[in-house]
Amino acid sequence: MEYYCPRCGSKKIVTYTTSFNCIRCLDNEGFPLEFDMEDFHTIEDKSEILSVREKLAFLKAFEGDFKDPEKRKAFLKSIEEDMEK
Ligand SMILES: [Zn+2]
Repeated sequence: MEYYCPRCGSKKIVTYTTSFNCIRCLDNEGFPLEFDMEDFHTIEDKSEILSVREKLAFLKAFEGDFKDPEKRKAFLKSIEEDMEK
């Protein structure tokens, strides 16, 4: 499989064991965007692939929410409501 940057489509990337960096794209803190190869395999629409740092930020936000019982309740309720539709 040939990897390319999901953001800019560039094939100028640096590959590691399980991830790759785009040499052109930087995140808002100036770090190269790093993507998991696994996401590249599993996500059909490459534009939906999140960088590793984006995923971490997402998980952290999620975890934070789950420590707050009120937010957790609201979240679970929203899932239930989704299922009732
Ligand atoms: Zn790029």
